Amino acid sequence: MKTWDNKRYHNLNYFLRNKFGDKVFKISLDAGFTCPNRDGKLSTGGCIFCSPRGSGDFAGTCSDLVHQFEEVKEMMSKKWKNGKYIVYFQAYTNTYADVATLKEKYYSVLNLEGVVGIAIATRPDCLSEEVLDLLEKVSKEKYLWVELGLQTIRQSTAEIINRGYSLETYIRAVQELKKRNIDVVTHVILGLPGEGKEAMLQTVDFVANTETQGIKLHLLHLVKDTQLIDLYEKGQLRMMDMEEYTELVVDCIERIPEDMVIHRITGDGPRETLIEPKWSLKKWEVINSIEHQLMDRSTWQGKEYVKNNEIWEKFNK
Ligand code: SF4
Repeated sequence: MKTWDNKRYHNLNYFLRNKFGDKVFKISLDAGFTCPNRDGKLSTGGCIFCSPRGSGDFAGTCSDLVHQFEEVKEMMSKKWKNGKYIVYFQAYTNTYADVATLKEKYYSVLNLEGVVGIAIATRPDCLSEEVLDLLEKVSKEKYLWVELGLQTIRQSTAEIINRGYSLETYIRAVQELKKRNIDVVTHVILGLPGEGKEAMLQTVDFVANTETQGIKLHLLHLVKDTQLIDLYEKGQLRMMDMEEYTELVVDCIERIPEDMVIHRITGDGPRETLIEPKWSLKKWEVINSIEHQLMDRSTWQGKEYVKNNEIWEKFNK
């Protein structure tokens, strides 16, 4: 059985510590971008689960990125003197602007003291040739990963959640990023409306076969001021309890190949605005329960991984 720092899954801390030889912190930034799914280009409503802050609720709030970075770094450095940092462009769509603006924002924090890498969260339909070229340039100077919000491979669910792009668009984005040797991390949401266990595991199997660097498993959160509330009030949304979620995540972990880094195994809902599930606020309890379940079931990441080229090649023509 393979373990990663005594954990049964290839966790991000382990990956970063091995890569950089030290504790690495991610500092979430809000660079003031918007999103085509919010500003009217595609729609104005956004993905139905997306919070008013563009799913960047833990990012800094002042408009100066250097200031956002320094504020968090100061807090962190009290605990870890020699910590290293990944600047994480988290809120909204971080490749949705002209290339000059993107370049200016990325480079404003890229070379600050202690920064060893940059993570950029975006939509697969916001990666033009020019943007990809810029990302490639950045990746040659600093370690870069790009996060893509896939959430599900089902078109029917994608429509319910108003994602606004097709699976083929995601696949093309992955191919383009891989061609440029840029690491890709895919977001998957567990518990989306209309999806049962089989559908969720299918998405995980699909991502597991992309031969990309990482995956984030999020628990669906019901947050104030999101469109998801309508479905909830109509009784069309079933929230999982902690036990069900724990079991499901362990099933997912088993199916993910050993070399794929699992960046997250639950979500972070903002305490002030989270409506359901409240149990998810006890993040460490959730993580502990997943780790215990892995032990109880004598299982680990990759134990049930099946290389299935068909699932990927089916869409890869
Ligand atoms: S793409 Fe991201 S920022 Fe845009 S609406 Fe969806 S979740 Fe929110």
